[in-house]
Amino acid sequence: MSARSIAADVASGARSAASVLDEHLARVREREEEIHAFNLVTEEKARSQADAVDAAVAAGDPVGPLAGVPLALKDNMCTRGIPTTCSSKILEGWRPPYDATVVSRLADAGAVFVGKTNLDEFAMGSSTENSAFGPTRNPLDTGRVPGGSSGGSAAAVAANFAPLAIGSDTGGSIRQPAAFCGIVGMKPTYGAVSRYGLIAFGSSLDQFGPFATDVADAAALYDVIAGHDPLDSTSITDFTPNAVDHLSRGVQGLRVGVVRELSGGAGSVEGLSADVLARTNEAVEALAAAGAIVEEVSVPSATLGLSAYYIVAPAEASSNLARYDGVRYGLRVDAPTTGEMNTATRTAGFGAEVKRRIMLGTYALSAGYYDAFYGKALKVRTMMLRDFASVYENFDVLITPTAPTTAFPFGERSSDPMTMYVNDVCTIPSNLTGHPGISVPFGVGDDGLPVGVQVLAPALADGLTFQVAAVLEAAANAGGAT
Ligand code: GLN
Repeated sequence: MSARSIAADVASGARSAASVLDEHLARVREREEEIHAFNLVTEEKARSQADAVDAAVAAGDPVGPLAGVPLALKDNMCTRGIPTTCSSKILEGWRPPYDATVVSRLADAGAVFVGKTNLDEFAMGSSTENSAFGPTRNPLDTGRVPGGSSGGSAAAVAANFAPLAIGSDTGGSIRQPAAFCGIVGMKPTYGAVSRYGLIAFGSSLDQFGPFATDVADAAALYDVIAGHDPLDSTSITDFTPNAVDHLSRGVQGLRVGVVRELSGGAGSVEGLSADVLARTNEAVEALAAAGAIVEEVSVPSATLGLSAYYIVAPAEASSNLARYDGVRYGLRVDAPTTGEMNTATRTAGFGAEVKRRIMLGTYALSAGYYDAFYGKALKVRTMMLRDFASVYENFDVLITPTAPTTAFPFGERSSDPMTMYVNDVCTIPSNLTGHPGISVPFGVGDDGLPVGVQVLAPALADGLTFQVAAVLEAAANAGGAT
């Protein structure tokens, strides 16, 4: 059942929020042991929120747009008094003293928090295999990964533990798991959604965003979480989200560019599988059939995104993660001196991938290498911004696959960081440019697993991504995707 119909039923009194919650918790009890979507199921919190919504309805008080809708929160979102781990041992036992702005907005909107979802440690990964608490399984095929880093959030929605979830996306961590789990996932324009209370990975790249089973639910969730927040200094002022208004606008006359370098055309990145490319082509054809003007377009620097990202993101991470020193948060491993305590805590508390990123980032920022690595990556980032800006003079949106392949089996890529990093080749550019992007399911691959198609748009055209995704969803549902 969609979040929209749950909210409508609860607001009208046709169903109680408590019974909606019971239904979802029953499914959690049935499958969570197998899936491991959650680090923590917050049943008590959920019950009190559901009861408060039901009491408001009974009293005739106004309720929010997500009244009684179960929702899962990625475990890198600060929730006051509720353990928040980033799936890292270093934060075990830590309870934030405040709520993320997104969390308070959702609570005000009447959402019911069912739990904190599993992720790759500190959101570093593409498969949720890097969690310190064990992997999450893809509900569509439990032998496969759900994607990552927001794998727990995507799996929670795909398993119908909750119709909605929040993830974070630094290089693709909402869109790629959405593609792998056959749901909708969207990364907003940088600054459209408050980062206050998002535990930082790469601060210039990170954004919270919605997961849902369909485009309309994702748009409704987006409209609740987006908008200016004075607590986040990078939050965009004077921005009123209106994704839902875009849903029925269609694509007549819209100029759609298919990015050659990310869609198997001349000069394309390697490793994009044939079935994914076939579905992407069908999606493009569906847009043309719906009245869009479709053309192939070249964005040469798009292929450089991966290299620039794996300098910029680790550089920012090495600085952001310096705060886990054994003094202020979570784990402390005692030792005779403060320095030894810091080292012992960080050695025991961080997993292999996080350590790899801290070392990469520290190296890239070190004297003598700063210009050669970090400085150069920033130049590439600027070049990409310029390239995309000039392409958007002639195109309203761009299309690419979301990920090179469908969901892969456990262990297939975890031993080789490079093959894992390549997963994000199509999603990373919009993190570096700060632009919005959405993944919408469009048919299945040769293995029967879902394929996601990505719609990209210029900064602040978030509504447009939902607009185009709605047309793709309708085409896929009508059988336009094979
Ligand atoms: N997979 C990418 C990484 O490991 C992106 C992660 C993310 O978006 N949080 O850095």
